[in-house]
Amino acid sequence: MISFEWVRSFLHGLAAPPGQICVACGNRGALSTTLPGLCPRCVSSIPWIRSIRCHRCGRAIGCPDCARAENLRRSFEMNRSAVRYDPLMREWLAVYKYRGKERMAPLLGTMLGTAYRALQREMTLSPHMIWQAQAVTFVPVSRERHIERGFNQAERLAEVLSHEVRLPVIPMLMRTQHTEKQSYKSRKERVESMRNIFAVHEDASFYMKKILMNLPQNENHQLIHLILVDDVYTTGSTLEACSQAIKRWGEERGIYFKIYTLTWARS
Ligand SMILES: [Zn+2]
Ligand SMILES: [Zn+2]
Repeated sequence: MISFEWVRSFLHGLAAPPGQICVACGNRGALSTTLPGLCPRCVSSIPWIRSIRCHRCGRAIGCPDCARAENLRRSFEMNRSAVRYDPLMREWLAVYKYRGKERMAPLLGTMLGTAYRALQREMTLSPHMIWQAQAVTFVPVSRERHIERGFNQAERLAEVLSHEVRLPVIPMLMRTQHTEKQSYKSRKERVESMRNIFAVHEDASFYMKKILMNLPQNENHQLIHLILVDDVYTTGSTLEACSQAIKRWGEERGIYFKIYTLTWARS
């Protein structure tokens, strides 16, 4: 006769996670205690951006991009990224984004948390007043792409980040049109096609008012520090277009934004 204990342990075995398998390399073994789902070997191969050479875009190497005239007046304060977009990171992102391995979201989002804390340290002038953003938002994907992939990779990352750093995540932006893949276009074409493709959801007003109500009332009381999340920073044109839409929308309502873009990788 099958004992109750046996049934219990059998059921428990079914419910337990299927061993300790690294989400990135698929090897079985003990996983890291700091980054979810990753084996120590994969942890050690992450190309973290530890020292920043370009303070605008957060690149670890010298950056002619940010010196271009059209990039001097950016709508976001700065970009910070967790890692360099090397071949391994490219592979990880492809697995997450194109092969739909959503199990990687907690890992990539936690890595974004590391970048947020580095930004906090950078922005904090006095140990008595730790710099803090008020909310997190993300770059939206078009409906077509959402259906194609089944999820918005930036939204998932923003959700994990918001949980990590205890900030509300607010879906502020929508795409007003579907754009073709940007990779085939020249820089000028990209900038042109990005104009006016993002708009702010009307109900964002409600959330922004709530945030403002909870801020200490001083001369800056209409200013919101906002984190804008995306997976990769390439030219910054998507993030610029999103930031422009948010700032324009805010100015019309007497709300001023300082936008910090936080991206998982910097190419
Ligand atoms: Zn691994
Ligand atoms: Zn730069």
